[in-house]
Amino acid sequence: MIPLRLKIETDAIDPYVVRLRSFEGVAHDTPTLSSFDAVLGNATGESADFSGGERTLRVFGIDASDVNGDVLFVVPRRGTAHRLIRANSRHNTLLVTERCDQLCLMCSQPPKKQHVDMLPYFETAVLLSPENTTIGLSGGEPTLFKSELLEFLRRMLAARPDIDFHVLTNAQHFDRDDLAKLGELDLNRVLWGVPVYSSDPYVHDGIVAKPGAFDKVREGLSILCQAGAKIELRTVLMKPNAAGLADLAGFVTTSLPFVDKWAIMQLENIGYGRQNWDSLFFDSSRGFDTVGKALDLAISRGINAMLYNFPLCTLPPNYRPFAPSTISDWKRTYVSECAGCGLLDDCGGFFEWHPKAHGYERFGVT
Ligand code: SF4
Repeated sequence: MIPLRLKIETDAIDPYVVRLRSFEGVAHDTPTLSSFDAVLGNATGESADFSGGERTLRVFGIDASDVNGDVLFVVPRRGTAHRLIRANSRHNTLLVTERCDQLCLMCSQPPKKQHVDMLPYFETAVLLSPENTTIGLSGGEPTLFKSELLEFLRRMLAARPDIDFHVLTNAQHFDRDDLAKLGELDLNRVLWGVPVYSSDPYVHDGIVAKPGAFDKVREGLSILCQAGAKIELRTVLMKPNAAGLADLAGFVTTSLPFVDKWAIMQLENIGYGRQNWDSLFFDSSRGFDTVGKALDLAISRGINAMLYNFPLCTLPPNYRPFAPSTISDWKRTYVSECAGCGLLDDCGGFFEWHPKAHGYERFGVT
C-alpha cells in the first residue's frame, strides 16, 4: 500500500507545510523554488535528506524519485509527515474535519469529537499542488464548518484556476442564506458528492442513524441545485437498501433529475463497514438483478449512472463499461486470482482491506 504517513526527523519545532523537490538539477535552478520548497540532498536506501529555508528534513522509507512535488504536512513533535498532495496521483483528498452529525452504519472513517482546523495548512498545500488536478475535500462532515469551507473554496478557486474540487458532504447543513456564498464560487469546478441511500425516508434515516436526515438531504440537494452546483449522488449498496434500489432509481429520475452523476457503490471493509460487514455486505455478483434494473432505469431516463468499486468480473459483461476503476491508488489491491486476468488493466480491484475470502459467488473471468 502506498504510505500516506511518513516517518521523519526535522530541526523544526512547529508544524509546517513543505513541498519536496527531488528532481535532478533543481539545486542549480533556484529561481523556480518557493520558500515552501525543500530540495533533495543526500539519499540512501533508508532515508532522504531535504533542506529549504531554515529547516532540514529527513524522510524515511521513501524513494526520493517518487516524491518530487509531493506536499507534506510535517508534525515535528510526532516525528511524522502526512502526504497531503502526491504529485503523481489523481487521488488526493484533504480531511477537513473528523466530526460528523451522522453515524452511518458503514462509515469508513468513524467520526471523532475533536476538531483541528487544518484549512490554513490546506490552503498552502493547494497553492503548491501540481497543475490541472482535482482535489477531494472530505471528513467527517466538512460543512459542519460551512463558512470556513465556502471561504476556503472561494479563495482557492480564484487563486488556482486550473484546480477542481470534489467535496463529500451529507448536505444536511445548507440553507437558503448560503445561495449568495455559493454564487461567489466557480461552481463548474466543484463536484458535490452527496450520499442518498434510499427513497424510503425510514431506510435512509436508519442507515445514517439520524432522524429527519432524508428530508434534510432533499432540502440540501434542492439548494445546491438552485445554486447551479454539480452533484454526484452516492449510494453505497448494502443489504438494508438493496431491495429498494430500483425504487431509488425511480426517485432519482423523477425528483433529482438535475444530478450530474449517480454512483452506486460497493461497500468498503473498514471502520463501521468492517464491524457490520456480515449484516451489510451485499453480494452483487449473485443479486445483480436489483442493481441492473436500477441502472437500466436511471440510464434510460438520462441519468449518468455508474458503478463504483465493483470488481469487473463480478458484473455481467454488458454492465462492465459502467464500472470505471474508482478505488484510490493508495488503497487498491488485487487478489491472487487476478494474475493473468485480461480485465486487469481496466479493473479497479479491491480495497486493500477487503477480506481475503472476498464474498463474491461469481468471481473471475470464465
Ligand atoms: S479477476 Fe481480478 S482483475 Fe480480473 S476482473 Fe476480477 S477482480 Fe478484476
